[in-house]
Amino acid sequence: MSRPARVLVLNSGSSSLKYQLIDMDSGDRLASGLVERIGERSSRVVHTPLAPAGGRRERTERVADHGEALRAASAELRADGLGLDSPEVAAVGHRVVHGGPRFTEPALVDDDVLAEIEKLVPLAPLHNPANLMGIRTARELRPDLPQVAVFDTAFHATMPEHAYRYAVDTATADAHLVRRYGFHGTSHAYVSRRAAELLGRPLEDTNVIVLHLGNGASASAVAGGRCVDTSMGLTPLEGLVMGTRSGDIDPAVVFHLSRVAGMGIDEIDELLNKKSGLVGLCGDNDMREIRRRIDEGDRAAELAFAVYTHRLRKYIGAYTAVLGRVDAVVFTAGVGENAAEVREAAVAGLEGFGLAVDAGRNAVRSGEPRLVSPEGARVAVAVVPTDEELEIARQTFALASSRDGGPEKRHA
Ligand code: AMP
Repeated sequence: MSRPARVLVLNSGSSSLKYQLIDMDSGDRLASGLVERIGERSSRVVHTPLAPAGGRRERTERVADHGEALRAASAELRADGLGLDSPEVAAVGHRVVHGGPRFTEPALVDDDVLAEIEKLVPLAPLHNPANLMGIRTARELRPDLPQVAVFDTAFHATMPEHAYRYAVDTATADAHLVRRYGFHGTSHAYVSRRAAELLGRPLEDTNVIVLHLGNGASASAVAGGRCVDTSMGLTPLEGLVMGTRSGDIDPAVVFHLSRVAGMGIDEIDELLNKKSGLVGLCGDNDMREIRRRIDEGDRAAELAFAVYTHRLRKYIGAYTAVLGRVDAVVFTAGVGENAAEVREAAVAGLEGFGLAVDAGRNAVRSGEPRLVSPEGARVAVAVVPTDEELEIARQTFALASSRDGGPEKRHA
């Protein structure tokens, strides 16, 4: 029998489950899908096999919890002959949002690892419980299969203490695990590695600033493949302006709103996480809509864009200082890959840092990694499409293959 080389990647959100079955030899997505509105009366199940082309299936039904969602996904996969029970599946890789101080690398799931992830729930009360449900259900469906937890925080574990420690009372911070962790780690890892390949430089000698600009957004300073600083903190709220999150603010805004506006802590939490950022500034969080409104002369949209790109320039400047030498500024995720205007505005006025975009190159639309800086620029500006699922699959496969026997022996 051939070596099992398929990895099922699961990304369980608070009310959704996304999955991809990836062939590790070719990198092909054999199938991908989404179960959303889990727990509501009409959930949506969408399944797209690689073949036949156009074989996308969609249905609406009640999916009560993540267990049912994974069973629905599993049934869809089986209908295409790609079931979780097939011997070609080598492992399941789970995206886990918060790994706290303990998980600095991916972990092969066992009862101890599950208990540790459970302990971290207070640090990520919406995400970690959903991630745990995904892991538990996958274990029930295939108890013999290696399950690997890949943490959003792990890539940032190489930050030096002076970068991750907040200047608050040490005893209080340590007692409650308060420090900078950083998120989007699989994306920052994948993109910084691909950027070094694009530049044709050895990873160990490449310094990059990665700007992951999706609905959530974060920046990182990566020296020789190791993260040395990142903009998200204890939670994903800190740092850049995001779709609905404020990013950096004076923490005293919280006290002020509590004392002066009489707002409760949960209300302020919701304000800063769900009603701030671009949506708070102009009512829209989709950059395409914001650009359309700017073209029509909309003041609020213009201001939102200006606040967003001003913050990006500040982080590029800060991380240039952190790294000392920068080889590339790299844009990724929905906004970073698609919004040429954002890339242009983020480096505008930074010619003194060796940064500029070439208008023609920046306007090209492509799914491939590419340079958008002028020929011979001192610092490259690049676009590298992210692929968090492939990175999770790679890390999962590497760990599952290296453990006792590995998937090769189990099905030999
Ligand atoms: P992500 O979280 O990486 O999926 O990114 C989602 C965000 O990317 C959306 O909210 C949009 O703001 C942005 N986006 C997606 N496509 C485009 C596009 N063609 N132009 C500008 N922004 C885009």
